[in-house]
Formats: sequence, structure tokens, C-alpha cells
Amino acid sequence: MPVLTRLIPSPVVVDISRGAIGDLAGLLADQRISSSGKLAFAVSDGSGQKLREKLSPLLPGADWYVVSDGTIDSAVKLADGIKGKRYDAVVGLGGGKILDVTKYAAARVGLPMVAVATNLSHDGICSPVSTLDNDNGRGSYGVPTPIAMVIDLDVIRAAPARFVRSGIGDAISNISAIADWELSRQVTGEAVDGLAAAMARTAGEAVLRHPGGVGDDEFLTVLAEGLVLSGIAMSISGDTRPSSGACHEISHAFDLLFPKRAASHGEQVGLGAAFAMHLRGALEQSGLFADALRRHGLPVLPGEIGFSAAEFVQAVEYAPQTRPGRFTILEHLNLSTEQIKDAYADYAKAIGS
Ligand SMILES: [Zn+2]
Repeated sequence: MPVLTRLIPSPVVVDISRGAIGDLAGLLADQRISSSGKLAFAVSDGSGQKLREKLSPLLPGADWYVVSDGTIDSAVKLADGIKGKRYDAVVGLGGGKILDVTKYAAARVGLPMVAVATNLSHDGICSPVSTLDNDNGRGSYGVPTPIAMVIDLDVIRAAPARFVRSGIGDAISNISAIADWELSRQVTGEAVDGLAAAMARTAGEAVLRHPGGVGDDEFLTVLAEGLVLSGIAMSISGDTRPSSGACHEISHAFDLLFPKRAASHGEQVGLGAAFAMHLRGALEQSGLFADALRRHGLPVLPGEIGFSAAEFVQAVEYAPQTRPGRFTILEHLNLSTEQIKDAYADYAKAIGS
């Protein structure tokens, strides 16, 4: 008999609301998450301590672990700390680094992971990927999707606005990533997962076209939901394809070529996405991207994040090497340095200033 439907790995609870952290104890008491109340919490030694002070009286069965950085060593140390202590789950409470470390540590000891995101800087908050610094630079490790996802809009609002801006760039870049995926289907015959594409694209379009800004709850809700759906889209496809194409290759190139000067992930992928849309001749969409990025205070030209046009050209040229095997508009066009220069001049002129 054929399979009637497929099951999607996804959190059993998603709470995106104002004051969500205040209800955390109740959420964690859900029998599917923690029946004994024995939980391990991972927090940063900086802003995490304030949340710890606020939450520890409400969570008597919690042990607290401090995570100092986003390295694989920290993740292994955390796993060593929590193993054998009969916790029901591990709760990561913090920004992207804390969540990535917690995801990996939880996977290592076979415990479910609860993600409590304190900023919206990228779509990794609810994804099946843990990005950690290792001896070879940075690696992406496959891990289970979080069992529960909590985003407190009051906490998000208290974080520096640049973190929210970064998430906007990452969400919008989905649209470019899906265009790359569809191009690959046409040219190389790669299979596109229609459900993953639908979720990731809808998330990107909702953020792109929302009239609000980082100061209002309606916009923050759509952005947070968009980032969660992007993560689940990656669980569905089993890779980062729905959210990562030429836009991300360009950003990875910035990270690798200029490690000390790289801007935030979302700033780089947003710029990369606007340029990629231009490269594929989607001029109207490239303009829409540029308008949205500008409106939210994100860069549309490399000079706005401290890179010259020549450095941008260098990054675009290097980009395909950052993701061997991934077919995007960059691999398709296979432009020479001169052609990239011309394309960039054309892009800069088209989006104006
Ligand atoms: Zn991303």
C-alpha cells in the first residue's frame, strides 16, 4: 500500500508571543517534553544570566550550564556535563550560538532539545542544523529539530535591532534560494521538494512584503514565524536547499575571504540575494528586495558594510567554491571576473541609491 501521507519532524509546541518566557515553566511541564521537571538549561555567561535569575525560581528542577562560545568544544563540554543525569530535555536559552551548541549537545546525549530564542538573527533557531566553529573553521552538523520552540517578543524587542535585521535578510533570501533550486531542476534535473519550497518561499514573501518594521509586534511575529517555517522546511528537504543558494554562497565567501571584516549573516545573504535576483534577470524582484532591505536598514551595496566593489566581485567569484555540488545561478552563468564586474556595475545602477 502506498504511504498515505508523510510525517514532518517538527516541534510539538511553538509559542511566539509577548511574555512567552513567563509561561515557560508551564510549557515545559507538557508531558511530551518533561514529565519529571528535571531539565538542563544552557545559557550564555552574558545576557543569559539575567534570564537565569528571572527563571530559576520558577523552575526548581532545572540545572544551569554556562556556554562560553559557539565552538564544538563547548558543545562537547556541555554534553559531558549533562550526560548520565536523567534529564528529560535540554533547554537552550539564548541567541544563535547558544542554540547551536545546545542542539549538538542534546543530539550527542540523545535528549530532546527545547529552543528558547532571544534574538531572530537567522533561520537556524528551529532548523535541524547546528553550526559550530571547529578546528577547520566552521562546520554544519545535522541534528534533530527542536522538540519545542519559544520566542518571547518582549525579549526579542530588548535585543539590539541589528539582530532582528539580520533575520530579515535571512528570511528574504529564501526566495532567491528557491529560484536557484528551481533553476537546478530545469538544468540539472535535481528534484525540488514542493512542500519545503512552499514553506520557505511563503516565509520569505511574507517578510518581504510586510509593511511593518522591527518595532512592531505584527512584523516581529511574521518574521519569527517565517524563520521557524524556514527551519522546518530544511527538516522536510533534509538539507539547507530551501534557504540557501547563491545568496549564501556569496555570504560564505565573505566569511572565508575576509574573516575579520565579515558583516552579519543576514546582511550578507540579503545583499547576496538582491544581487542574485539581478543576475537571473528578475529585475523587478531585485528592486523589491533592495527596497525592503533599505526600508529595514539592511545593506544593498557592499560599501554599506565596508567592502569595495572589487572585494564584492572577488567574493562572488569565489562563492561557488564555498558549496561544492550546489547548483545556483552562479554555477549556471559561470561568469568571468570581467563579467562579474559588469554585472555588479549594472546591479548598482539598476537599484540606484
Ligand atoms: Zn541563512
